[in-house]
Amino acid sequence: METLLKIKNVGVDYDLDDDIIGAINNVSLDIHENEFVCILGPSGCGKSTLLKAIAGFLIPNEGEILMNGKKIEGPDQSRGVVFQETNLFPWFDVKKNVTMGPRLAHKSEEEINLICDKFLEQVELEEYKDSKVFELSGGQKQRVAIARTLANNPQVILMDEPFGALDSFTRKKMQTMIRTLWEKNNSTIFFVTHDIDEALLLGTKIYVMRRGEQSIVKDYDIDYTNRLLLNPKEHVVDEKIFIKLKEEILSLLEE
Ligand code: ADP
Ligand code: MG
Repeated sequence: METLLKIKNVGVDYDLDDDIIGAINNVSLDIHENEFVCILGPSGCGKSTLLKAIAGFLIPNEGEILMNGKKIEGPDQSRGVVFQETNLFPWFDVKKNVTMGPRLAHKSEEEINLICDKFLEQVELEEYKDSKVFELSGGQKQRVAIARTLANNPQVILMDEPFGALDSFTRKKMQTMIRTLWEKNNSTIFFVTHDIDEALLLGTKIYVMRRGEQSIVKDYDIDYTNRLLLNPKEHVVDEKIFIKLKEEILSLLEE
């Protein structure tokens, strides 16, 4: 697999009035094309800071982040970001929200319509094209946000606890959807979560971050995502290997 992102010994400090907060420390990992990377760890361990550094929203104090061999120096369309809060325009309709990027890129009206239909179909919101965003449920809004990101054709999608505010049924549905989208579009996904089950069910690779170290302490290769693509109804959560990994990661985080 081609290396898309190289994160090398990255450290980020936040400079408050008299205090320096070390948010992440000596973080290194490579992200390859078509990987579904999950960053798992408790609140405060530095997950969002790492995501923001990869997005280019902040520049590390130490180390560097390379994408396709080039140093990241600011935000770029090639890295799409999906947050828990969707940041959509509530008074605009779904189509206008989804096609914001292609419009800014001066695509033709025909292309814009094709992109819109393709990704609204993928998130199962075709009939909502003309609905105003404020009329939608939380899960639907999150799907619009995902379609909007896909419409920009990013090389990597960065997601920060995107399903954290959703009820558990909607969340399950969204997990299945993102797995399918990842496969269909050959996407590379960097997904931040504090939910062990979510990480185990979605990731092809899990990096565990720990509070205190503010860094990655362990990584795991996982194959559930690939298996669940073949059989979404499979109950992997009951399997010995799933339970074993879950216990191992839990005890790692409790140390
Ligand atoms: P996580 O996403 O894992 O909860 P964060 O990356 O948000 O962790 O935070 C890591 C550490 O940095 C925490 O101690 C947090 O309080 C601190 N932090 C995060 N953002 C800021 C900020 N803008 N200013 C100061 N400290 C921050
Ligand atoms: Mg966070």
